[in-house]
Amino acid sequence: MTDIGQKIKEAAGAVDNLTKFKKRSKLQASYIEYDKFSDSNLHEGYFCYNCIYWMNQGGGKCMLVENEGQDVMGKASEVIAPHGCCGAYEANYDKLHDTRTPSEGLAVDAEKNKERITTADVV
Ligand code: SF4
Repeated sequence: MTDIGQKIKEAAGAVDNLTKFKKRSKLQASYIEYDKFSDSNLHEGYFCYNCIYWMNQGGGKCMLVENEGQDVMGKASEVIAPHGCCGAYEANYDKLHDTRTPSEGLAVDAEKNKERITTADVV
C-alpha cells in the first residue's frame, strides 16, 4: 500500500473510532426524568445516581448520554438528573443499597448478586 493510501486508511480509522465514542442523545438512550422521583431514596432503585456512568461533577452529567435535550416524555433539561434513568443503566453497587429485610439478606451471597445474569442462566 502506498504512503498516501495508508494515511487515508489511518485517518478513516481515527474518525470511525471517534464516532464510536460519541455520546447518545437522551432520546436515543430512552432517557426518562420523572420529577415525582426527585424526592425518592436514590440509593434504592434504577436511578442515574447509582449508575456507574453518572458523574456528579459539573452538575449532573453522564459518560454515555448527552446532558442537554429532551427525554422520551418531552421534558427538556440541561442535566442528567440523579433521579433519571435510561436503557444503558449499570448498577454501581457501592451506592445501591440492598432493600431486603435483614433476615432475607442473611441467606444471600452479596458477591453473587454482582454477577451478570443472562437468559442463558434461566432454566
Ligand atoms: S442510567 Fe443512563 S443516563 Fe443515567 S447515568 Fe446511567 S447511562 Fe447515564
